[in-house]
Amino acid sequence: MRILQNYLGGEWRDVSGAQSVDVTNPATGEVLAIHPMSSEVETSEVISAAAEAFRSWRRVPVPKRADLLLRYRQLLIDASDELSAIITAENGKTLSEARGELMRAIQYVDHAAAAPETMKGAVTANIGDGVDIEYIREPLGVFAFIAPFNFPAMIPLYFTWAVGTGNTAVIKPSELCPLTSIRMVELAEQAGFPPGVVNVVLGAHDVVDTLCTHPDVAGVSFVGSSKVAGIVYAKASSSLKRCQAQGGANNHLVVTNTVSLERTIGNMISSLYGNASQRCFAGSNLLVYRSVYERVVETIIDKARGLVLGDGRDPGVTLGPVISEASRAHLVDAVNRAESEGGQVLLDGRSASVAARPEGHWFGPTLVRADTSSDIWRNEFFGPVRCVSVVEDVDEALSVINASEFGHTAVIYTENGGEAQYFRNAADVGQVGINVGTPAPIAFYPVGGRRSSFYGSLRGRAEDAVDFYTDKKVVVSTWHFDATRAASVDPAFELK
Ligand code: NAD
Repeated sequence: MRILQNYLGGEWRDVSGAQSVDVTNPATGEVLAIHPMSSEVETSEVISAAAEAFRSWRRVPVPKRADLLLRYRQLLIDASDELSAIITAENGKTLSEARGELMRAIQYVDHAAAAPETMKGAVTANIGDGVDIEYIREPLGVFAFIAPFNFPAMIPLYFTWAVGTGNTAVIKPSELCPLTSIRMVELAEQAGFPPGVVNVVLGAHDVVDTLCTHPDVAGVSFVGSSKVAGIVYAKASSSLKRCQAQGGANNHLVVTNTVSLERTIGNMISSLYGNASQRCFAGSNLLVYRSVYERVVETIIDKARGLVLGDGRDPGVTLGPVISEASRAHLVDAVNRAESEGGQVLLDGRSASVAARPEGHWFGPTLVRADTSSDIWRNEFFGPVRCVSVVEDVDEALSVINASEFGHTAVIYTENGGEAQYFRNAADVGQVGINVGTPAPIAFYPVGGRRSSFYGSLRGRAEDAVDFYTDKKVVVSTWHFDATRAASVDPAFELK
């Protein structure tokens, strides 16, 4: 059995790992690898390797760093089939979803490789008599990347912005899905990043604690559930580090009476059940105008019934398993409780199974008519359990959305421009979709929610990422140059 290793200073190294977890394929139950947990000493060794490498990496000319990223990008593209297969094996999403994730992830490298452009500073000449003022961007040191299980390629690749801007990186992949990160780091090694620029430490919350408090870590980029985002943000910022902590979500889709259902049902179903609903941009709760309620719910149920549950590697499968047996049991429990509290289960995936894969963690598409104050409505359930309720108008929908503990996305389906514009301005969330169920910003736009969906000020990706991983050093200068000499060679030169 493959036992996973840390990667530090350009070497793969065994982890003593008194404790370990199995990395399993959620569709088959097959154990793919053993993931040992690093000790505090081992975590510190990884951080030290990154700190050591920072001293020289920060001085590598920016276009050279960009060149390495472009070489890396090509290796990721060349390895797309292999990486997609790894994502599907460890996470369960279908191969086409894995390819989609990878395509989006590689775009991060496109933006990160634009460092010669994004690292530009700014200058104002003659801000005072003969005085210039400028800022230059400088990297800060070691950044830690703590990733969730649901996007094993996309989130760990945040590291490319950090190294593009001259920092070094320690990646802590999800212990449930570390294999994609490990393969991507092997490719970074192949691309020629110097030893210590990109590192991996295996572990769970103990390792995260060390990353958040270690004096040699300059900043922490976290993505995961709101509960852990809060813990990480509090720990890292009280240790006086930069921190951005992307949390969980519980997104609302508002379906109005002018919805063009034929045109939008595809993206609605994808938002609700795509990636087995294990994504922070998934639509969780539907708020449907009364006049179209029956038609909308019938159409959704009809389409959801057409999803094919199974192993994401099998052709024709459109809905993979949930990540673990614990997750499946948690979802079953949530629906049972909702039912006992008066919720109406309109589509029931609790007893779903896949005959050829009895060990898989199966949960079919589920839709519960629930009260907006119920537990199932208000909390994030990371799997294909979705809720629906009736609203009278956009204001009622907005009052539910804006009262949510989460503030990641909100979506409106409408053909009324004024209503869409009003919704865009009034929804208190980080991302709004208008007839787009999954309003996920691509690499070139910043991503982040509000309330418990995001702690921090600089969001992930794009120019916010460049700001997060760099400091703007201001330089004020004046020079004591004898201007009479300049005037003597150029008569047009005006003396003060
Ligand atoms: P999680 O919070 O359980 O784990 C995330 C990371 O934190 C993992 O690396 C894990 O090892 C570590 N961790 C877990 N418990 C910890 C603790 N007590 N202290 C310190 N570290 C701890 O999240 P997950 O289940 O892997 O991922 C799903 C969650 O991530 C969902 O809530 C989803 O909405 C969220 N997510 C958010 C975004 C976003 O952009 N906002 C993107 C993807 C996923």
